[in-house]
Amino acid sequence: MTATAPLAGRTALVTGASRGIGRAVALELASSGATVVVNYASSAAAAEAVVAEIAAAGGQAYALQADVSQEEQVDGLVTAVLERSGSIDVLINNAGITRDGLLMRLKTEDWRAVLDLNLTGVFLCTRAVTRPMLKQKRGRIVNITSVVGLTGNAGQTNYAAAKAGVVGFTLSTARELASRGITVNAVAPGFIATDMTSHLNAEGLLNAIPLGRYGEPAEVAGAVRFLAADPAAAYITGQVLQVDGGMVMG
Ligand code: NAP
Repeated sequence: MTATAPLAGRTALVTGASRGIGRAVALELASSGATVVVNYASSAAAAEAVVAEIAAAGGQAYALQADVSQEEQVDGLVTAVLERSGSIDVLINNAGITRDGLLMRLKTEDWRAVLDLNLTGVFLCTRAVTRPMLKQKRGRIVNITSVVGLTGNAGQTNYAAAKAGVVGFTLSTARELASRGITVNAVAPGFIATDMTSHLNAEGLLNAIPLGRYGEPAEVAGAVRFLAADPAAAYITGQVLQVDGGMVMG
């Protein structure tokens, strides 16, 4: 890792980094020089494996458990990062779940679980890092939404509502924090091959993807790194960058 790496000396908190897209983002940010905080909910071994992989490549990382849908746990997480690293320069709000079901049969608990993590979790983490970022007069926040939040999807009213909410939250936060040197953007993946999508019937979906294949977590991570880095993305805020193989255009 060279001192000229774009994220050298920066601390990046990635929520839900034990698996899937979050894991790929953690590896990518670490390879750009950041010290990465690998947050997870329950997969301690997987999170430690991500930390070990980063260390083996010459990077720096540590794992911290927290359910980011819970206010006290989020505040504890951010406090722990500040105590250990002294700053939080980059926040990637990635943790997310699905609880799919057609609207008429959707259980209220499944509605709430998805909104609690996928939208309220983004709010809680962003609010918690705002004070340290304001003090630093510098910060990069990237929220992982979904093309489903832009188009809707039958069977995913809860998930699409949360992800559309993340878009509105991103635009509003970007406006609030712009004058303080903090940028806030979103990345909207299409169909990415992870545990989240492994149970879906992929055959039909391929026809809707102009590039003719699913995305890889690393391909989302590249877009996230770009938005997190200085100076490349310093003049970009309030944007939603789609990484979807052309699924949603225009
Ligand atoms: P995934 O493979 O299922 O991984 C989810 C990650 O979130 C895991 O690291 C998990 O930790 C963590 N997590 C779950 N509940 C949590 C909680 N309460 N607190 C903290 N962390 C929690 O999912 P993915 O496909 O990588 O998705 C990552 C993000 O991309 C999500 O926001 C998702 O909505 C979005 N996205 C995904 C796709 C796609 O096609 N895959 C498309 C668009 C958007 P544990 O391992 O500890 O459970």
